[in-house]
Amino acid sequence: MKCPVCQADLPDGAKFCPQCGARVGEVEEINPALLALAEQYERRLRENPKDATTRFNLALTYIRLKQWGAAIQQLELVCQQEPDFPDAWFLLAVACGNIGQKEKSRELLSEFVRRFPDHPKAVEMRQRKFEAIDSRLRTSSKLLSQEVEGGDESAGKNEASTGL
Ligand SMILES: [Zn+2]
Repeated sequence: MKCPVCQADLPDGAKFCPQCGARVGEVEEINPALLALAEQYERRLRENPKDATTRFNLALTYIRLKQWGAAIQQLELVCQQEPDFPDAWFLLAVACGNIGQKEKSRELLSEFVRRFPDHPKAVEMRQRKFEAIDSRLRTSSKLLSQEVEGGDESAGKNEASTGL
């Protein structure tokens, strides 16, 4: 099963998506607790507009409410105010992808990887991209894929020319 929000693969019986936190596997209904939560964050932000964590939480709440536009607006502000906030960049890319802004989503993802190369999600994406390029360019890539699976990028033992 895939998450209806971010398309991540879900473990069996998951109630929430491990990647984006969306509720899955049940009929979605507007949860009054989420609305109350959003109001609470909005109130806190009026008092302290520079609280990036609260703004991020507000964006997450908007996403759970499927208010994508509002979520994107908040996440863009988070990325401006607190550029060193990897999850905000990542979630913004996911949200843009979700409303069909594929180009923007791709740009944000590469920005995310550039800024936070050691973030686990960035590492995972580099590997996926690497595999995609690899399968386009090569018919046999046994050595390379072994290295990707091993996740040991610093070993420098890939004697085959990878073009990286
Ligand atoms: Zn998800």
